[in-house]
Amino acid sequence: MTKHAIGVDIGGTKIAVGVVDEHGAIVAKTRRKTQPQDPASIDSAIADAVAELAQNYEFHAVGLAAAGFVSADRAHVTFAPNIAWREYPLAANVSALIGRPDITVVVENDANAAGWAEYKYGAARDATNMVMLTIGTGLGAALVVDGRLVRGQYGFGAELGHFRVVPGGHACGCGHRGCWEQYASGSALVREAHRAGVERPVRSAALLELAGGSAAGITGPHVTTAAVAGDELGIELLAELGSWIGQGCASLAAVLDPELFVVGGGVIAAGDLMLEPARASYSEYLPARGHRPIASIVAADMANDAGIVGAAALAREATGE
Ligand SMILES: [Zn+2]
Repeated sequence: MTKHAIGVDIGGTKIAVGVVDEHGAIVAKTRRKTQPQDPASIDSAIADAVAELAQNYEFHAVGLAAAGFVSADRAHVTFAPNIAWREYPLAANVSALIGRPDITVVVENDANAAGWAEYKYGAARDATNMVMLTIGTGLGAALVVDGRLVRGQYGFGAELGHFRVVPGGHACGCGHRGCWEQYASGSALVREAHRAGVERPVRSAALLELAGGSAAGITGPHVTTAAVAGDELGIELLAELGSWIGQGCASLAAVLDPELFVVGGGVIAAGDLMLEPARASYSEYLPARGHRPIASIVAADMANDAGIVGAAALAREATGE
């Protein structure tokens, strides 16, 4: 019999809910809109979507992928930057609304869920030690060491986006300066593109045209579109982003010695325009380079579904199925 589990990807304004089989395939999907400032609306939207899917599927595990700091008991979100969760008992609230004692509800950090999906079923399925970077507006990360997801002692691992790479650098939402996320993220790419648009308008002509003439209107997809068409500045901006990714990965190699880095999230649309510079700077900055294997840096396989698939897999494993 096929064993299904539910994965829920909780975004700022909507949730995506999927029924996932034991091979990591999504067999049914539904969505709900939510209000990020009203956590109770998220609880009831999840319960409602789960009830809808329960009409046609049997399952005993529900995994919730949350963009926030998740407690070690995988039941609470202690803090989230973009949703009003503070010491929030998400698992208990959703479980009470579902009202089925035979269904286990587990909360996971969204980047950890995505990383587990890539490890189990995606780009890292043949790896044992890997790092997943989910690079969108910010930089989320997951570590798999010797085949185990690393959550740390208190549940807050692995927030690699807040690894300090530039002492005294750009201010970060975490309250500190110089975090990796401020250099290796879609926000960093857009910040540098805006700066170029203001300081180097002639060189930025292609980007400015895509943005309707306004430097402040330049987006990440504009940079990628221009770079794919051969625009020099677009290529340079993506290479700079890639270089920051590669340098950070080289420092991580000193700690973890992984065989594989998987890069997902919105910026992966830039493909090799970003990954090739990342590989080059990884090789350049790798400690003891020339005397050790070079880990691969590859694109993620699962696109936007990784959170759902990983959350479902982790929840199923938590129930022992
Ligand atoms: Zn930070």
